[in-house]
Amino acid sequence: MTARQLPRRGLLVILSSPSGAGKSTLSRLLLDKDRNLSLSISVTTRAKRPSEVDGVHYHFVTMREFERMRERGELLEWAEVHGNCYGTPRDPVETALSDGRDVLFDIDWQGAEQINGAMPDDVVSIFVLPPSGPELHARLVRRAEDNEATILRRLTNAREELVHFSDYDYVVVNDELETALAGVTAILNAERLRRRRMTGVEAFVDGIVAAL
Ligand code: 5GP
Repeated sequence: MTARQLPRRGLLVILSSPSGAGKSTLSRLLLDKDRNLSLSISVTTRAKRPSEVDGVHYHFVTMREFERMRERGELLEWAEVHGNCYGTPRDPVETALSDGRDVLFDIDWQGAEQINGAMPDDVVSIFVLPPSGPELHARLVRRAEDNEATILRRLTNAREELVHFSDYDYVVVNDELETALAGVTAILNAERLRRRRMTGVEAFVDGIVAAL
């Protein structure tokens, strides 16, 4: 066994930010370059945007289906965001963790609080901040897929979401995408090396000592 293969528990990596801080782009780049990380695909009652694919970006469900999942305990967490319901399906997360894979969650502060409460030892939470207020405003307006009422609601919600940065383990400012990505990658690399998550480290050290 080499150090690279030391067994460890999977990480639950939570990325939160107000809409428009670039969190989705950051998640996509991270998932592209990190093969041990899989995205938790949420269920939502929100309408699908033209660029989105059902089962890839979200599982789009009706309110009835959402309530049924919630009542059956199939959601690890759920919350109402921007007037729609969002939730994390429990099964894929448990499967990934038991396979030793890490899971990335693009969820809001309410979801982060619930997952952190349920599995505090496995969570690494990162809050992504925009470089400034005017830049966040401009990014939300540039996003052509949302109408004006939606943009205004998201600005109001951004203020509320921003307050919660202090509940997170790490803060990354997304000014330059490459720099922000390097920051998140560094956090993941370090958290993967935490001794308390390495379930096989005692046996590994015993093996080294025995061979001396
Ligand atoms: P959007 O509608 O722009 O895709 O997402 C709106 C907000 O809902 C984002 O802040 C996103 O992180 C959050 N969100 C997406 N999926 C979930 C989820 O499963 N649970 C929670 N709590 N928030 C979610």
